[in-house]
Amino acid sequence: YLDHQEQWESNARSYPRRLPIALAEGFGSYVKDVDGNVFIDFLCGAGVLSLGHNHPEVATAAAGHLRVLTHALDFPTPAKREFLDAQLSMLPDGLRDRMKVHFCGPTGANAVDAAVKLCKTATRRGNVVSFQGGFHGSSHAAMALSGLVSQKEPIADGVPGVHFFPYSYCARCPLGLAPDSCETNCANLLERSLRDPNGGIAKPAAVVLELVQGEGGVIPARRDFVRRIRSLTQDLDIPLVVDEVQTGCGRTGTWFAFEQYDIEPDVIVASKALSGIGLPVAIILYDQRLDTWLPGAHTGTFRGNQAAFAAGAETVKVFRRDNVLENVRRRGDQLRSRLATLDDHPWVHEIRGRGLMWGIELADPATKAPAGAQASAVQSYALHQGLIIELGGRDDSVVRLMPPLNVAEEVIDQAAAIIVEAIEKSCP
Ligand code: PMP
Repeated sequence: YLDHQEQWESNARSYPRRLPIALAEGFGSYVKDVDGNVFIDFLCGAGVLSLGHNHPEVATAAAGHLRVLTHALDFPTPAKREFLDAQLSMLPDGLRDRMKVHFCGPTGANAVDAAVKLCKTATRRGNVVSFQGGFHGSSHAAMALSGLVSQKEPIADGVPGVHFFPYSYCARCPLGLAPDSCETNCANLLERSLRDPNGGIAKPAAVVLELVQGEGGVIPARRDFVRRIRSLTQDLDIPLVVDEVQTGCGRTGTWFAFEQYDIEPDVIVASKALSGIGLPVAIILYDQRLDTWLPGAHTGTFRGNQAAFAAGAETVKVFRRDNVLENVRRRGDQLRSRLATLDDHPWVHEIRGRGLMWGIELADPATKAPAGAQASAVQSYALHQGLIIELGGRDDSVVRLMPPLNVAEEVIDQAAAIIVEAIEKSCP
């Protein structure tokens, strides 16, 4: 492959081409490249493949529909009904009866756009509050809500009315405070700005929040930060949108991450792992009081993918039967404990995560500057040892680990050993 790289990839300049491999086939937690090398996959399509590659039952359920009915636009179908029932069944009891489901496929960004548009329609307000370091997608509006300034200029900054507030990123406190002087001042800032009649921000249509910033560097939001934002938005009657595109469908150990904060959001955005095996589908689930769109107000051609619906319904069955959420919690604890030998490593700034979504932030021991070059060396070392991992966060200095949620104990051990060795060799 290395001799013909240019012929394999899209010729567009924007393709990152970070890892020098082309993939041929996948099976469970493994992928094989076109040259026959086998890798453990801890990227899993950026969290899309919750049940690994080609899960046999899910793939069979999806394939069945390819011969019967592949696409049905907005017609009701048995596969769609089963998918809807499966998704609603995974919601906590209090929420299930009052949530509506809207298909906004096929991508996460489409669903984020839909969530914001719905909140604007329902509240008749124009502003939106979002958080520094967040990522919500590459469409025009979703990118405008994202923190990555370099990707927005000068395009998405043209979307008006997005206001950014600090996120609870304690390893690099946005307010420069030390942990012992922290009183969740990041939430204070939002609270004061929204409550102050001279705060300069008209009441927003929505507050859009990731409970674990994924692309931003795997940063779980602090519990008191999230709970303060929930009570503030409730008080001021501002819909709270949780972007669970990456954290949802079991990734953090509960079906949705918000469950771990004991809050009820007004809108949940879900996509990536909804079908379990990477067939595109995206939805928003929202409180019935926001159900203000008239028929036809929000459409989309690819909202009727029957194979994705069948796969999504089957995925929920497999989660229940195999107790996959319990596996996420156990294998997550195992992974964290295997990484404990890195806790005192001089280049390791912080190890953090939830469930099977982990990040190892690397920083220069002297300056504490994000160590992107070292993270890139770790990624490349791991690849040569047979492990695919992703990077994210400031200057791509965070090594991100996202195994399949049904990963086996021995695969976690093998991968953790490679990561420890990769960091020890790449950050002497
Ligand atoms: N929201 C979050 C939290 C994400 O992580 C992503 C994708 N990484 C998106 C939205 C956008 O999803 P998509 O790439 O499917 O448009």
